[in-house]
Amino acid sequence: ILEIAGLNKWFGAMHALRDIDLSIAAGEKIVVCGPSGSGKSTMVRCINALERYQTGEVRLQGRLVNADCDSLLSVRREVGMVFQSFNLFPHLSVIDNVALGPRKLLRIGREEAEHRAMDLLARVKLADQARKVPSQLSGGQQQRVAIARALAMNPKLMLFDEPTSALDPEMVKEVLDVMMSLAHEGMTMICVTHEMGFARAVADRIVFMADGAIQETAVPQAFFCGDCGARARQFISHIT
Ligand code: ATP
Ligand code: MG
Repeated sequence: ILEIAGLNKWFGAMHALRDIDLSIAAGEKIVVCGPSGSGKSTMVRCINALERYQTGEVRLQGRLVNADCDSLLSVRREVGMVFQSFNLFPHLSVIDNVALGPRKLLRIGREEAEHRAMDLLARVKLADQARKVPSQLSGGQQQRVAIARALAMNPKLMLFDEPTSALDPEMVKEVLDVMMSLAHEGMTMICVTHEMGFARAVADRIVFMADGAIQETAVPQAFFCGDCGARARQFISHIT
């Protein structure tokens, strides 16, 4: 579903992504980890055409993705993204946050969009919060709304960039539980996270990045038993 080949990106003189190659099949779940500044967010943002890149290719279902392609809208439609900060519309109710994309971009009528939004809110266990505004919810609840909002566009691929790292510890689990059930339903997912319990449970592959490059790609079992390079081993020993 996604193919990245020879991807390089610079911010001025800063070489942020180096020769990234990564292919992801439909239904696969990839966990991306690595030290701060290693390029994880930048890579994810290139996949969603939020960031330009200089060389190489990103292809989504065969179609070229870059920040000035004609297919920008369809890329954004097909790729759901959840960030560390929830980025909800503060003045809209929870249900309107979820229903807005389908109404405006998919031109679905209000009634049907709200009906679907309620289904999604039930899926993230927030049906009873639909009429509140985001500031009335906890961080974990807001992040679950953000997930429901991304799912409302019926994406083929979901990108998560450290979705739990801004949350109080007691709220991390409720968000990871939603992500896990999404994984079990067969969603294709790329998750930047340092939640290694999640990685063990759902990742088909773990991608370890450092200095803008993919240093290791391994199945969780191999990754966690230290069957990888020194850098990755050192990283694992710091976070587990
Ligand atoms: P973290 O774990 O802290 O989120 P990361 O792996 O996501 O880190 P990126 O945010 O992708 O790292 O950043 C990779 C490198 O690119 C860093 O050195 C960062 O300073 C640089 N960088 C990121 N965004 C920009 C930008 N808009 N302009 C200039 N440099 C940037
Ligand atoms: Mg980041």
